[in-house]
Amino acid sequence: MAKLYFRYGSMNCGKSTAIIQVAYNYEEKGFKVLLIKSSLDTKGDNKIVNRNNLSRQVDVLLPPNMPVSPYIKDDIAAILVDEAQFLSPNQVDELYSISKFKNIPVICYGLRCDFTMKGFPGATRLLEIADSIEELKNICKCGRKATQNLRLINNIPTFEGNQVVIDGTDQVTYESVCGKCYLEIKNKSKEGVQ
Ligand SMILES: [Zn+2]
Repeated sequence: MAKLYFRYGSMNCGKSTAIIQVAYNYEEKGFKVLLIKSSLDTKGDNKIVNRNNLSRQVDVLLPPNMPVSPYIKDDIAAILVDEAQFLSPNQVDELYSISKFKNIPVICYGLRCDFTMKGFPGATRLLEIADSIEELKNICKCGRKATQNLRLINNIPTFEGNQVVIDGTDQVTYESVCGKCYLEIKNKSKEGVQ
């Protein structure tokens, strides 16, 4: 019986590099993979791009709440999902069911929580039902393990706003930080407002 895997980590922890590598490993041995990415992610449209500018085309740009099953062909050896935090919980349930009834391993890569430390619905569902959960490690600038995602708008840390950024004129970036640095920056930003 195949498993549903969730490999989570903070921003820039190497998820894209890992998924490109896993796809390559399957294909090198002659197996076919189905590479899915949520269409909520606008970063690289129909491509997965890692920090070294290695890129790879995805097979399916999946809108929220659309079923995955129509894309599953018999010759697929594994399903790989990038930006899995943007899946809807019912898509996660469907992927779980595919792993069990079609016996295809499903490997999801994504964030656990957003810049306000709240879980993404898709990630929360994955944490509830995945057969295997693995953390991809990243380092904070202070040397501790980075677990949180700091959102910067025009280089200023921000703690309010939508979970998913709507494209605009502001420059939105993220920094992976440890829990302590996150709270310290948050407290400092509160003091600044007063
Ligand atoms: Zn830190």
